[in-house]
Amino acid sequence: MTPKIISVKIGYSNSILLVNGANSILIDTGVKGDLQQFKTLFNKYNLKPTDVKLIILTHTHNDHTGNLIELVQLTRAKVLVHKNEFENLKTGFTPIPSGTRFYTKVVVFLGRNLKPRHASPEPFIADFTNIANYSLSDYGISGEVIHTFGHTAGSQSVLIGKTLIAGDTFFNIREKIIFPPFANNPQQVLKTWAVLFGMGIEEIIPAHGKKFRVEKAVTEFEKWNKKLKIRG
Ligand SMILES: [Zn+2]
Ligand SMILES: [Zn+2]
Repeated sequence: MTPKIISVKIGYSNSILLVNGANSILIDTGVKGDLQQFKTLFNKYNLKPTDVKLIILTHTHNDHTGNLIELVQLTRAKVLVHKNEFENLKTGFTPIPSGTRFYTKVVVFLGRNLKPRHASPEPFIADFTNIANYSLSDYGISGEVIHTFGHTAGSQSVLIGKTLIAGDTFFNIREKIIFPPFANNPQQVLKTWAVLFGMGIEEIIPAHGKKFRVEKAVTEFEKWNKKLKIRG
């Protein structure tokens, strides 16, 4: 079945709850801080914490993995991370990605020199990893985890019908910023976008900002395609 998709802002990152009774799924665990927000969220949708059976991490930056340890204790959910980032999570070190704009390049330069662990998660051993796409049919949900590399080497998104729960593969902040301000491989982000457009996605729920229609991203694609080609 198609679950109800609920987005909740935890710090400055969205966590997404796929409401599906005793087989509910949580995507990302926000910025570390307020576990109560999750408890309130589960209550609101008549879920016991243990109804959350799976936590999917779109990647291992710490604004997506905060509260993970506390949430696992609360829900006893299994945790899924892409194989390429299993070690990052295990060791609690994820490198700061590169800036894709002038100001984020400056931020990254300072961060790497002053606070190299800034993006790192708390160490955690995930229950399982995926390499290829991962179907959610075991949870009675029509949808799948798909690979969306570029922001990081193990970035993934969840596709439910024509809605993409995108992690940091798309942003939607300050009106115009759709392309991730930080990315390990900006060219790869664009390749990923092209594949997603080809799949016919219609709606995007980013981890930062509100959901939006894909057309907005297509316009950005043209711009960034030119920009990155010029730079080589
Ligand atoms: Zn990120
Ligand atoms: Zn993020």
